Amino acid sequence: MTSAAPSPPSALTHVLGRMEHCLEGRHEEHRCYPIRAEDLIFTAACPVCGGTETVTLVEVSLPSGLVFHSTAVCRSCLLAFRSVSPSYRWFQRCWAQIATGSLEVFNPDLEIERRNRYRGYLRLIQEHRPTGRVLDVGAAYGSGVQVFAEAGYQVSALEPENDRAHYIRQSLGIPVYQTVLQTFEGESSAWEIILLSHCLEHVDGPAESLAKLHHWLVPNGLVYLEVPDLWDIVDWTDGLFMTHKSNFTQENLSWLVRRHGFEILSTRTIPRTAGETSGFALLLQRRDHGSDDPFVLANPAESLRAVQQQYRKDLFDLAPPLDQPVLLRVPYIDQFYHTIRREQGRFQSVLTPAGQQRLDFIPNSYADPL
Ligand SMILES: [Zn+2]
Repeated sequence: MTSAAPSPPSALTHVLGRMEHCLEGRHEEHRCYPIRAEDLIFTAACPVCGGTETVTLVEVSLPSGLVFHSTAVCRSCLLAFRSVSPSYRWFQRCWAQIATGSLEVFNPDLEIERRNRYRGYLRLIQEHRPTGRVLDVGAAYGSGVQVFAEAGYQVSALEPENDRAHYIRQSLGIPVYQTVLQTFEGESSAWEIILLSHCLEHVDGPAESLAKLHHWLVPNGLVYLEVPDLWDIVDWTDGLFMTHKSNFTQENLSWLVRRHGFEILSTRTIPRTAGETSGFALLLQRRDHGSDDPFVLANPAESLRAVQQQYRKDLFDLAPPLDQPVLLRVPYIDQFYHTIRREQGRFQSVLTPAGQQRLDFIPNSYADPL
């Protein structure tokens, strides 16, 4: 069976489409990012609830057979997470490869949108804490946290990517810690407010990260936490999307933050609109103790089966049976954000020696390095 790759009309595709548009605008050359077994990290237990009963949803392999990206779902709390994925070190190498050293933002339109979003966060936070020290974790080009600086807050940023950190430091004059949340050693009670907007889904240890935030905040300090929603953002292409490590639901993330000593002051759903990344946001306040309540799945519509279906969304006739993972094979990694550019080829369904259905990516041209 041969079939053209379907084009999924999802929020993710929208974001990726815009990224590609930017790359084309900059005449970015095709690149090949080599990856080896030693570049990978493996996560067996659920990073949210610690559950060990997981089901593989998608596996992405190279022609060598190396599975470099694998997505699983936790049976207990329905977190979708990467059970195999490239390490932070590998991403660092990729960032170094694309670093230009130039002092310009990747996409000025995105920075305008970012400022607008952060104005909303500012209004929310000002009601509770009109002054204080603010840390923006995953600050990108810093145009968001700059809104807080303009409102009189004392701001700093945490951003690992070379060009972005360089821009924040040089162009905005905002102090930057150039690292990732999981390796940053912040001081106790150093901040009144911490912002994580579309950041927690990128980190390897969400539970450990929340424990760190708790340590860095003053008593009753605030966290603005916004993430994409699994039920909205995921379709089959999520299995190819390398920068997200977890896809949360409101249920499992709310449970996780309470467990780590945060009270949820308010919850907000961010709808999918032009210029806004959809998801949900939690405004958290640090408390002394976390909750010991066990995780209980409350919403019956949210089930393992529903997550499996989500990971087949828009795959149409190429979708394997629900009890099998979606197996994808790609010839190489040409963009470390989402593995390959799908419009430069198609998927062809093949039967593996083990009798499983696999989708092999066939590029339009093999002129590129393997
Ligand atoms: Zn879990």
